[in-house]
Amino acid sequence: MQAIQAVRGMNDVLPDQSPIWESFEQTVRDWLACYGYRNMRMPVLEKTDLFVRSIGEVTDIVEKEMYTFVDQLNGESLTLRPEGTASCVRAAIQHNLVYSGPRRVYYWGPMFRHERPQKGRFRQFHQVGVEALGFAGPDVDAEHMVMGARLWKRLGLEDVSLEINSLGDAESRARYRDRLVAYLEARIDELDEDSKRRLRTNPLRVLDSKNPAMRTIVAEAPQLLDDLNDGSLASFDKLQSLLRAANVSFTINSRLVRGLDYYNDAVYEWTTKRLGAQGTVCAGGRYDGLFEQIGGKPAPACGFAMGIERLLALMADVGREAAARTPDVYIVHAGDAGNRFAWTVAEDFRDAGLDVVLHCGGGSFKSQMKRADNSGARFAAIIGDDEAQSEQVSVKALRETAEQKKLAVKDAAVLMHDPARKHGSDG
Ligand code: ATP
Ligand code: MG
Repeated sequence: MQAIQAVRGMNDVLPDQSPIWESFEQTVRDWLACYGYRNMRMPVLEKTDLFVRSIGEVTDIVEKEMYTFVDQLNGESLTLRPEGTASCVRAAIQHNLVYSGPRRVYYWGPMFRHERPQKGRFRQFHQVGVEALGFAGPDVDAEHMVMGARLWKRLGLEDVSLEINSLGDAESRARYRDRLVAYLEARIDELDEDSKRRLRTNPLRVLDSKNPAMRTIVAEAPQLLDDLNDGSLASFDKLQSLLRAANVSFTINSRLVRGLDYYNDAVYEWTTKRLGAQGTVCAGGRYDGLFEQIGGKPAPACGFAMGIERLLALMADVGREAAARTPDVYIVHAGDAGNRFAWTVAEDFRDAGLDVVLHCGGGSFKSQMKRADNSGARFAAIIGDDEAQSEQVSVKALRETAEQKKLAVKDAAVLMHDPARKHGSDG
């Protein structure tokens, strides 16, 4: 029978790869705590309408990337979340989270987009999302960018640079839209099919084109910044002065529009040249209209999301590695009394805070010792009928040359304690 494979573009994280994920997650958890952000967990499945109303009908995500299906039981249209902000705001409205003041929150987990799988682009990928709900900014927008700079440092990443832009308010964007349409219509013969279609439906999206052939026409397009009103300009200036004061370098990219419709004012991307075409590792912006757009009371907010796979690829590229946590002791055992005693010793060791692997499946002493060695454990504890009789264990160091010692269980546990590691203890 043919073996069943995973869905294309959806990856397994295997035991050899998980240490770098866990190390990343630990760094991220500590980094978020150090800025006062609190964790939220939302379902991966939402009503389709949530994403249509928030991300926008004429966007790549909603037009062609969503995993949408009809619930066979009640006919409801559901979608696997393509991103987290919509769910986060939906939950904030549903549970009245910003009722008693603004909130700093974060979440992480799998997101789903039906894209063409390639390096750095998958159909199930993972994001960390950070949101400041109920904050008008631009101070909190600057905080988000300062946070990014600190995280790259903590992860050991250089070569990640910040581009910012301001989309202004809806009125400025409408003004700009007219100028952009006039410009694009004058050069319509140079547009690819996608851009021609977008010119009719959502002209700003033309600036977001990934087709290299569109580069010149995008570069020469009119600038959105020229249409901003005084309020947006002042806020954008304030943001820049906060970033300068915090020593975060940035460049202004007036063509940065982002692939989702809900943004206004400050938007930004963190990119690297080390990952080829998929170089955006983190992106975000302000979305003051989103609460209202999905049926809540108006509340200003902003946030960003980073792509975990891309950041891990970048960590690998700069040689950042993480070692797997190995057990303290592997218990090798034989004989009826020895086998029985090994079970109680394993639990006694765990009570003492050690990480213990108890050999299962029998086999010769030699083959058990081989497993002990492969496990990465620092010690093997050898238990036979003799040890069971005297309620002792024979301890053999596996990573250094030392004489094998026969010790009482308690003394063995003390000997095997790793002073470099904080052992949790139930005893
Ligand atoms: P791109 O322009 O690369 O398609 P995007 O603008 O669609 O990105 P966002 O919706 O802003 O991406 O998501 C934030 C981050 O999530 C991206 O910067 C990227 O790091 C990551 N990301 C987005 N889509 C994917 C994907 N299909 N596979 C892996 N990571 C992704
Ligand atoms: Mg995309």
